[in-house]
Amino acid sequence: MAINKVKIIGVPLDLGANRRGVDMGPDAMRCDGLLRAITALGIKVEDTGNLPMPPRPENIGNNPKLNYYDAIMQACARVRDAVDASITTGAFPLVIGGDHSITIGTAAALSKHYKRIGLLWIDAHGDFNTEDSTISGNIHGMSFSTAVGIGRPSLVDKMGVRTTVHAENCVLISARDLDPLERANLKNSKVTVLSMREIDERGICDIMKQALAIATKDTDALHVSFDLDSMDPVYAPGVGSPVAGGLTYREAHLITELIAECDKLRCLEVVELNPILDKRNATGKLAIGLIASALGKTII
Ligand code: MG
Ligand code: MG
Repeated sequence: MAINKVKIIGVPLDLGANRRGVDMGPDAMRCDGLLRAITALGIKVEDTGNLPMPPRPENIGNNPKLNYYDAIMQACARVRDAVDASITTGAFPLVIGGDHSITIGTAAALSKHYKRIGLLWIDAHGDFNTEDSTISGNIHGMSFSTAVGIGRPSLVDKMGVRTTVHAENCVLISARDLDPLERANLKNSKVTVLSMREIDERGICDIMKQALAIATKDTDALHVSFDLDSMDPVYAPGVGSPVAGGLTYREAHLITELIAECDKLRCLEVVELNPILDKRNATGKLAIGLIASALGKTII
């Protein structure tokens, strides 16, 4: 399906992460020309600005395993409704974060519209903790498991939509930093993990062919959730949780270029840009380039 109309949904949320600053990610992308880059592809863009976020609570709340639970769930409900409205009006939702907890809302909206969703989770981390396995209580580390319906009702039922993201159609790409219990959660699930080790051994083209085959098998939609910390910090210093040994500039572009060729792509999410930690907005510019590639920009 050719993408001819994009709706930008800015989600300035940083309560799901340890470090502050990713709430400024959406505006940093806009400042560096996100709209221009999409318009240049001949795609109509509507930017409705940032979703209103609840004020930052004074403390993390009653449950140290789910920091800022109430506020984050409020924010995710707004993401759910905005993505839902975008799909209903025939616009491709481009969700820009914000921390990775926002996928809880995105996945719920997609589940209202599609019967079986494949998901590519591109991330240095697994984000596959649950309320029981988490060490930090940071909800951005539980959003992938929540999206596939693994975990307690506090997260998996909160959006009021039964997820149609199937674990057997999910692939974690570029992982290199997993918590011990999170690793066990992943191994016990049907998610395919293609870590940096596999990328080093087989090359990103081969990896992406396998990932796309898994994510599109019997599915009616593909969602891509791109955490910028999947990149090597050399290229993407402006992220809250950098991990050495990540994707190169060209590997990331080839990932998004191959995604653009998949006719089942229905939603793209780019998260965890932290302008405070960025160097002359290098990571913001990189994010815009990757979004353009995923929406169809080609070299020739
Ligand atoms: Mg993440
Ligand atoms: Mg990450």
